[in-house]
Amino acid sequence: MSETENIETHAFQTEAKQLLKLMIHSLYSNREIFLRELISNASDAIDKLRFKAIENADLIADDPDYRIDITFDSEAKTLTIADNGIGMTHDEVISNLGTIAKSGTAEFIANLTGDQAKDAQLIGQFGVGFYSAFMVADEVEVLTRAAGSDAGVCWRSKGEDAYELSAAEDLTRGTRVILHLQDDALEFAEDFRLRSIVRKYSDHIGVPVRMLEQQFPTPEGEDEVEEKAPEFEAVNSAQALWTRSRSEVEDDEYREFYKHVSHDFEDPLSWSHNRVEGKLEYTSLLYLPKRAPFDLYNREAPRGLKLYVQRVFIMDDAEQFLPLYLRFVKGVVDSNDLPLNVSREILQEDDRVTSIRNALTKRVINMLDNMATKEPEDYQAFWDEFGEVLKEGAGEDFANREALAGLLRFASTGADGSAKTVSLKDYLERKSEDQEAIYYICAETFETASRSPHLEVFKDKDVEVILMFDRIDEWLMSMLTEFEGVPFVDVMRGDIALPGEAKQADDDADEEDKEDDTEHPLVERISGVLGDKVESVRPSKRLTQSPACLVLADHAMGAQMRRIMEASGQSLPDMKPHFEFNPDHPLLVRLDAESDEDRFAELVGLLFDQASLAEGGALSDPAGYVERLNRLLLDLLAD
Ligand code: ADP
Ligand code: MG
Repeated sequence: MSETENIETHAFQTEAKQLLKLMIHSLYSNREIFLRELISNASDAIDKLRFKAIENADLIADDPDYRIDITFDSEAKTLTIADNGIGMTHDEVISNLGTIAKSGTAEFIANLTGDQAKDAQLIGQFGVGFYSAFMVADEVEVLTRAAGSDAGVCWRSKGEDAYELSAAEDLTRGTRVILHLQDDALEFAEDFRLRSIVRKYSDHIGVPVRMLEQQFPTPEGEDEVEEKAPEFEAVNSAQALWTRSRSEVEDDEYREFYKHVSHDFEDPLSWSHNRVEGKLEYTSLLYLPKRAPFDLYNREAPRGLKLYVQRVFIMDDAEQFLPLYLRFVKGVVDSNDLPLNVSREILQEDDRVTSIRNALTKRVINMLDNMATKEPEDYQAFWDEFGEVLKEGAGEDFANREALAGLLRFASTGADGSAKTVSLKDYLERKSEDQEAIYYICAETFETASRSPHLEVFKDKDVEVILMFDRIDEWLMSMLTEFEGVPFVDVMRGDIALPGEAKQADDDADEEDKEDDTEHPLVERISGVLGDKVESVRPSKRLTQSPACLVLADHAMGAQMRRIMEASGQSLPDMKPHFEFNPDHPLLVRLDAESDEDRFAELVGLLFDQASLAEGGALSDPAGYVERLNRLLLDLLAD
């Protein structure tokens, strides 16, 4: 025991304190998982040492057999998990057990709601590992000595505000976590219970997890044999899960392994386990989570696979094996070809890594495609969580664009409500034979999209239009021009040709059309009022209900993208829309008959503002609009 004056007392970092509190107030109904977390840490520590020992074999010369030993003392009410892994130095203990150094911690804390059920879920995604010990212990001691160092450290805490540190002597290499069990947690000091937890959660760990063999009293009448000290025996199968053949691994084992690699507390949605032989040899085990992590859109958040080379753990978060848009995929890749001393820099440039990455990308896409066909409900759940991220892929991964486009799901005028359930294949199957485009509309919200005047003629003619209202959609559609050879057409842009109508693509028709437009007497009068606020004025083929709408030029930036760019502080050149009016609408018929030019101008101004409003746009002079409208109302009331 160290003397009192050598004990340093440290306060937990604020975030750590908050997490501890959540932990202790039993967020999990399933307390036994603390053991999985501690074994998982022990196994990570052994992986790290194994990796370091490749360069420096001296580190393990004294004790080369890696293992995790679990012992208990039911009288003293203690449970001990000991590993001969990498251990921790004094400073590492402070930063690993006193703070939460994970990136995104602040973001995580900000996301906590105070609602236990919700927070439990969030915390599950965050993975608070070590602190889960306080679910069953009222005091935890950690004795640790880093490989290659002589100085041992003792960390001790009751899980409240602070922990104590002192020097510890005569420690073996690695870490020993001693739990002083709470009175209602004494089940965790029972042989049978512990063995079953280890088998349930930690069978896949690649090192032996050992317990002392059980001793039975000598049956009466038999000769007393000399008491032998019990020996340690492995409780788990101690073979890394991905090295086993697929047919030997139970689904439950895959699920447990997922929790070990992902720090997720929920089951995965799906997985794919494959061994590849040939020019390159590697094994991959890829998982799709059920739920998006809170930091899915933090581009700096750690992502990627756990990398092993010939069964030896090399690094966490090897992001080079999957593209950014598959950042939600978790799992392991174990290569036989890469050198053991591979670094992140090498990974970035290595052709073998590129080949594996391409193959794994295809593998994930196939997994999703299969799920979409065979388990459409699972796929829908996936899409609702990760759809927006997958859209990044459909936009930027040229090589897999068609396959990714096939995975997209949208809301549409051909389906109910705002749920995103319609695939492009569904759309093509439903469309009439003479329809030569996939029509879509992009807007800020589902309501703006689904109620847009631009849809009127499509609704009238029963032509389905895909409704897009995610922030990323307009960008996506600037990258995606066709699907299975059928072009996308934005119903808010340019001249649209409806199914069954002669296309006006050729120049002759275009000119004829222009002549047509200028023939309508309102074109010139309205142009005179709107002046350079618009690119042109023309009668509309789109409108059946509304009096007027604004149409974007074919290559103009859409309103959504514009708002995003402006919000990021960029100044953009003015974009002038085309003003289309519905000549059959009673308002325009009335307008045509208006001889008072001031009143005519006033009404046209109103129509223009209304058309922007219906697009979900902001008016450049909202007060002017209100004034005009009020003057009109007064006129009406005076009549
Ligand atoms: P995580 O495992 O997700 O990193 P934990 O809370 O489980 O988070 O553990 C925090 C850190 O404490 C680990 O990252 C590791 O650095 C250190 N640690 C925990 N247990 C051990 C151990 N048995 N040996 C060495 N280091 C450990
Ligand atoms: Mg852990």
